[in-house]
Amino acid sequence: MPNLYERDSRVISRLQKLRFFPLAVTGGEGAYLIDEKGRRLLDLSASWGAASLGHSHPALVDALKQAAENQAGASILSSTSEPTVSLAERLLEITPSSGGDERRVWFGHSGSDANETIARSVVAATGRPRLISFSGAYHGGTAGSMAVSGHSVQEHAEKASGLVLLPYPDPFRPYAGDASGGAIIDLLQQKFDEGCPPEEVAALFIEPIQSDGGMIVPPQGFMKRLCELCQSHGILVVCDEVKVGLARTGKLHCFEHDGFMPDLVTLGKGLGGGLPLSAVIGPARIMEFATSFSMQTLHGNPICTAVGHAVLDTIEKDNLAENANRVGEHLQQSLRSLMQKHSIIGDVRGRGLAIGVELVSSRENREPAATAAAKLVYRSFELGLVAYYVGMNSNIIEMTPPLTLTTDEADQAVLILGQALDDVAGGKVPDNILDGFEGW
Ligand code: PMP
Repeated sequence: MPNLYERDSRVISRLQKLRFFPLAVTGGEGAYLIDEKGRRLLDLSASWGAASLGHSHPALVDALKQAAENQAGASILSSTSEPTVSLAERLLEITPSSGGDERRVWFGHSGSDANETIARSVVAATGRPRLISFSGAYHGGTAGSMAVSGHSVQEHAEKASGLVLLPYPDPFRPYAGDASGGAIIDLLQQKFDEGCPPEEVAALFIEPIQSDGGMIVPPQGFMKRLCELCQSHGILVVCDEVKVGLARTGKLHCFEHDGFMPDLVTLGKGLGGGLPLSAVIGPARIMEFATSFSMQTLHGNPICTAVGHAVLDTIEKDNLAENANRVGEHLQQSLRSLMQKHSIIGDVRGRGLAIGVELVSSRENREPAATAAAKLVYRSFELGLVAYYVGMNSNIIEMTPPLTLTTDEADQAVLILGQALDDVAGGKVPDNILDGFEGW
């Protein structure tokens, strides 16, 4: 009898696979996944940040049951419903704005459809044809969201016409040797002066931490300077909080760390706690400019929006931003202490429970250690830990665990990682173990 993973490989398309090891999940509880053999694996990914409350959280289960027992339709397109309207009201309340502009909320299923909706509507509503984003940015996997992304995994995708891709400011690998990111601002100014007049640009897409591009935390002050420059030219600032928003970084919104005020905010992943739910919050002049412009049948369905309420309730009631901050600090510190023994760790960075561990072949040359990263996540999986790697060079271990993670669980994760690092360094992980696990 083939096992679950073997059955998967016979029937499920590779087009949607990003596999690092043969993980076959049959259940979950809190920060743990249960695999087909009944093993409990500590989940430091939370399905790329989507399972924000962990697995089978009672608040989520209750909300789901209640919404399904008296289902208020299945869509927002041609009727409205209480959970969807009240979730929009709530998102407007908890998302700061620069004031003045009336705002509206759009609901979708994914970060991809939300960012695609923004990319299309800012261009159509303002009449400005161009967009700016960052090299390494991942804003989604649909045609319109890939068009404004700069991640190497999407090299095949067509880009938005006139898209400007800026280098993302990476303090570990500074652009033009300038760790403040100032050289990138200069570069943009140069583009504004020659070839890309700012009045042709509708919007700037930002990740407040560039996650799939390598969990890169921008230098303090950079985002504020960049946004103010763009906003001074009437360019809308879109902050993609899909992965790092909603309490993950120790504040409700990640952009609060940087003191800038976006014009539009995208939420996804953690908002649905594991269900498909995303949202855009933006100015009415963009969000109201047309009707029937970006819609899918199940958008705003009352089951997902009821769950969105349960996620926000739990974040507030259990003070999960504070937990993410405290446990994240502890986890980062413990990971840094691994650096003494393991010179392969070049950098540990992050905010709250959005953490990256960059692997390098030596700290002097900072050469990315991609194979070691692939082996490390594989070995960690064998030892009971789930984490994946990200980055344009595939060498950053990403940690986006459930926001409910405890310090004991963080300690357990570091023990496993330490063991896995020893095993990789000791040559105990053969090359061929990675066959069929290309990652990205
Ligand atoms: N934005 C960011 C910052 C992301 O990290 C991702 C996914 N990794 C997306 C958008 C796309 O989200 P989804 O895969 O849910 O469509």
